[in-house]
Amino acid sequence: MKRILVTGGAGFLGSHLCQRLVDEGDDVLCVDNFFTGNKNNIAHLLHKTNFELIRHDVTFPLYVEIDEIYNLACPASPIHYQYDPVQTTKTSVHGAINMLGLAKRVKAKILQASTSEVYGDPHVHPQTEDYWGHVNPIGLRSCYDEGKRCAETLFFDYHRQHNLQIKVIRIFNTYGPHMHPGDGRVVSNFIMQALQNQPITIFGDGQQSRSFCYVDDLIEAFIRLMNTGDDCIGPMNCGNPNEFTMLELAENIIRLTNSSSKLIFKPLPHDDPRQRQPDITLAKEKLGWEPTIQLEQGLSKTIDYFSQLLKSKKKAYNILATDTMKNAHFIYDQNNLKTTEELTDLIPQ
Ligand code: NAD
Ligand code: UDP
Repeated sequence: MKRILVTGGAGFLGSHLCQRLVDEGDDVLCVDNFFTGNKNNIAHLLHKTNFELIRHDVTFPLYVEIDEIYNLACPASPIHYQYDPVQTTKTSVHGAINMLGLAKRVKAKILQASTSEVYGDPHVHPQTEDYWGHVNPIGLRSCYDEGKRCAETLFFDYHRQHNLQIKVIRIFNTYGPHMHPGDGRVVSNFIMQALQNQPITIFGDGQQSRSFCYVDDLIEAFIRLMNTGDDCIGPMNCGNPNEFTMLELAENIIRLTNSSSKLIFKPLPHDDPRQRQPDITLAKEKLGWEPTIQLEQGLSKTIDYFSQLLKSKKKAYNILATDTMKNAHFIYDQNNLKTTEELTDLIPQ
């Protein structure tokens, strides 16, 4: 039985990872400060004898005895990570230093949940791991992008300097149940809007693209990467290479939810990457991994989840979604971007 620490374990990805590790019989220690995570995501694990929960902020040192660490703690949605950008950088950088220090003391293997954002608004498409990226160091997304880049630097320096066993996975847009309904990410936003027959908010002209991976596929990649030998440390891209524009995503979600929602166009957020698609050749070669769940199937499972959530807590989540959109506009207004009215010419006739 391995003792495994999952930081950010009450969040979207972390809760699925905890579930998988508990099911496999590992002794799981979930650490979270509940900034964006939710106890409901892990409530069903609390009675298990091989699951333990600690409320803790990873920007402070942690002293526990473990064999492996999955370091996921960090808000992932732009609205959440831009809410307190200084804390976001601290979480990535101080969090990495603390978790690497812990790994060094107890000689644990440690995996970092890095991100496709390290490529910024990429000039190379699809992105391969040897591409160094095109990142704005002083923009609104920088607290996240540069924090994650610095965390990767720390991981590789601890590996070279202290011989630490590290694994770095670069995650591309992932979606599924347990996403925060008001996190402002595109899949959760569009599904919540479609289920309530509210307008679907397309940012910009909707021609920007992303590649969406279903959560179960990604968790499989986490486990496989952690179980590789010392010669496989990453960084490794993991995501679904099938690429869709935001307009295509909206059309899919409207069809699958049978919604009467119409599209409305809003200003494109600052530094919003134009396109993103992983080259997963390395993951295929080293892990024998590739996604198995395609968009329509994954969206259907996610729609079921949000639909249940709305039935159980409709009022609370309506308010949450509205507040999130208010925050979003505050962020865009600060940049003096175009107002919605100025963008009406983008709306199809
Ligand atoms: P999430 O916001 O649902 O989960 C993050 C978790 O970390 C939350 O439970 C939050 O409360 C916790 N957390 C935040 N700051 C913390 C701190 N200082 N101390 C302790 N806990 C803290 O996001 P997610 O989508 O599950 O992302 C998990 C990880 O994967 C993040 O590191 C994120 O950068 C990375 N990632 C996710 C995606 C994606 O598409 N979901 C893509 C790229 C990278
Ligand atoms: N997006 C959108 N409408 C929304 C939320 C997001 O059109 O209601 C767009 C956003 O501008 C971006 C894409 O969807 O181009 C993905 O956004 P998300 O925040 O999910 O992820 P990221 O930009 O970090 O890839």
